[in-house]
Amino acid sequence: MIDRLLDIVLYRFTNLKNDSNDNIVPQITTGTIVFGALIRFFFLTLLCWGMIQYFYLYDHWFLLFMIIMGLTFYPAYRQWEHFHNRVDEMQDSTLCGSCKHFEPSGQLCRPLDEHVSNSYIPCDGQSWEPKFIEIENLR
Ligand code: SF4
Repeated sequence: MIDRLLDIVLYRFTNLKNDSNDNIVPQITTGTIVFGALIRFFFLTLLCWGMIQYFYLYDHWFLLFMIIMGLTFYPAYRQWEHFHNRVDEMQDSTLCGSCKHFEPSGQLCRPLDEHVSNSYIPCDGQSWEPKFIEIENLR
C-alpha cells in the first residue's frame, strides 16, 4: 500500500514493471492514472504556490506552471501509453478481448464488474458474446 502510494506521488515507474496482463488485478488502469495525476497535481500546486509566495517568484509563475504540467501530465501520459499497449495485447490474445462485454478502459467485464486477465476469465467463457461486426466490412 505504502509502496503504491509512493509510486503515485513520487512518480516512480516501479509499478510499470510489476504491471502485466498476468496479474489478476491490474496495477494500472484508467482510474489509477487519473487518480495519480490528480494527487500529483494537487500537491505540486500547493508546493509551487507556497514557493511563489515565499520566494516572491511572481515573475516566474510560468516556469513553475511548466514544472507542474511536466510532473503531472507526462507521467500520466507514459502510464496511459503503457496501459493501452498492454490492453491491446490482451484483446488480441484472450477470449475476453473478443467479447462484447469487455471494457478496455478499465480492463473489466461489464456485467460481472470484475477485472479480466490472461489467467482469469470471470465467467469461464459461459457469457461470451462476439463483438459487433459491421456487415459492410465482411463484403
Ligand atoms: S462475459 Fe465472460 S468472456 Fe465476456 S468479458 Fe465477461 S468474463 Fe470475459
